[in-house]
Amino acid sequence: MIKIFIDFDGTITRQDVGDALFVRFGGKKCLDYINEYRNEKISAVDCFYSECNECIDIDKNKLNEFLDAQEIDSSFIEFYSFCKRNDIMPFILSDGMDYYLDRILKNHGITEIPFFANHLELTPLDGSLKVSFKPSFPFTDETCDRCACCKRNHMLTLSAEDDIIIYIGEGYSDRCPVHYADIVFAKDELQTYCRQQNVSYFEYRGFADITKRLEILLDNKQSKKHFGLKKRRQAQLAAREVFLGG
Ligand SMILES: [Mg+2]
Repeated sequence: MIKIFIDFDGTITRQDVGDALFVRFGGKKCLDYINEYRNEKISAVDCFYSECNECIDIDKNKLNEFLDAQEIDSSFIEFYSFCKRNDIMPFILSDGMDYYLDRILKNHGITEIPFFANHLELTPLDGSLKVSFKPSFPFTDETCDRCACCKRNHMLTLSAEDDIIIYIGEGYSDRCPVHYADIVFAKDELQTYCRQQNVSYFEYRGFADITKRLEILLDNKQSKKHFGLKKRRQAQLAAREVFLGG
């Protein structure tokens, strides 16, 4: 079976909603935290705690208005129909917060794709519409503090050994999972990372490009050439190391 794991912020959505949300509601200090995280000075969990601390007295209506204005890639819905028609199982893996993923996906009628993210609780203040943010992190990996929601672990536990694993992403939290994927679609800074790490990838600008590429790869598979749609040796070895506790 083919399984596709997809980043959310900046991949399905046009912009990084998480970063934009924290800067919009928590102020410029959040940008510093984000940079410290990207420069590997603090962990993702610490970054989120600091960002949430900056977000005080948030007007829930304004927050929802902000989320309702977020756009997604216009070809994502067609890509999802393509997956359904071809028995390809998509999952969304995000190091963002479930509150906004859930709202944005529902806004666009996407209710069937399982997603995994960090948890954000909105706690009402004094019975008003003002809320504070309380984050929690159900999917951390105890041996790694880079990401809060470990995409690699989800990918490996949701796949069987002979599944073809496809990964689609663009940014920092996609660096780790590309090492475990058989086929990678990369844009923006993830391309640079893949080149540096010798991970081969298809470049894309939007989901229409990915659909087109997958049509070709599936065609080749049906004609038994198996060009492209095959297990990647390096990814298999990387996964084996994880299971052996390496
Ligand atoms: Mg992203």
